[in-house]
Amino acid sequence: MQQKLKIAIQKSGRLYEDSVKLLKDCGIEVKNGINKLKTEAENFPLEIYFLRDDDIPQYVEDGVADIGIVGENVMYEKNKKAFIVEELGFGKCRLSIAVGRKDDYTGVGFLQGKRIATSYPILVEKFLSEKGISAEIHEISGSVEIAPGIGLADAIVDLVSSGSTLFMNGLKEVETVLKSQAVLIRNEKLGAEQLQLLDRFLFRIRAVKKAKNNKYVLLNAPNNKLQEIIALLPGMKSPTVLPLAEPGWSSVHSVLSEDRFWDIIEQLKDAGAQGILVIPIEKMII
Ligand code: ATP
Ligand code: MG
Repeated sequence: MQQKLKIAIQKSGRLYEDSVKLLKDCGIEVKNGINKLKTEAENFPLEIYFLRDDDIPQYVEDGVADIGIVGENVMYEKNKKAFIVEELGFGKCRLSIAVGRKDDYTGVGFLQGKRIATSYPILVEKFLSEKGISAEIHEISGSVEIAPGIGLADAIVDLVSSGSTLFMNGLKEVETVLKSQAVLIRNEKLGAEQLQLLDRFLFRIRAVKKAKNNKYVLLNAPNNKLQEIIALLPGMKSPTVLPLAEPGWSSVHSVLSEDRFWDIIEQLKDAGAQGILVIPIEKMII
């Protein structure tokens, strides 16, 4: 029987939808996994395990799963024997220290001897000891943000994305302990067949990520401005140029990366480009 690659993803929660979407974008169909521990992909030798995110690093270390998708925050806190193979670009957040909004916080010295509530005792301890601070860490597993309000702690360390939860609880963010996103992790000792499957899977993930960071651009250019416009466009090899039905005009096609996108579009307009169309790319294989 053909070997399968076993992947652990979050059962439900903030990483679930993006994890399933990533598989789907990679052409891997997952049958609805809610309330199921495990399912098989339709068209790739992949077995999917649905677990609590906290448990994923352990399952991957033990080899129950070959690979997993988990936040860097969980990966570093659990400190298990597993490698990070790829950043996935979703589940972005930061692990931050927050104190009361009215507290006079002037630096990490404020935390000396204080009580800090968190679900991330290992990361917090490491951060504080690097700064030479000793504090009382209280580990709690959820609703950390209410700890100061009920007199359990003077400060908290928790995950933040917009900061609205902190605000609603009368807290302010004062330090970042870690910036985090979802990552693909793997067991340290995968067999040859598993490694080969992982390579195929990674090839697809990278094509999807690349496509997300790039746009397909079509525009019309007067022929006398063509050289100037082409010089602005990188393209995969070089831009495609096709004549328009109207004499003296050409259609130019190219690929632009998201980070330089607006910059280049403005320059293209200034150089005389018209009718600029921007189209998302589904996959990109170079
Ligand atoms: P589980 O039941 O699987 O243990 P959980 O309640 O621990 O779930 P979620 O709140 O679903 O976890 O978050 C999962 C991951 O999503 C976090 O570990 C983190 O990597 C990421 N994440 C992204 N943004 C945020 C945010 N604003 N707050 C919390 N986690 C976030
Ligand atoms: Mg969890």
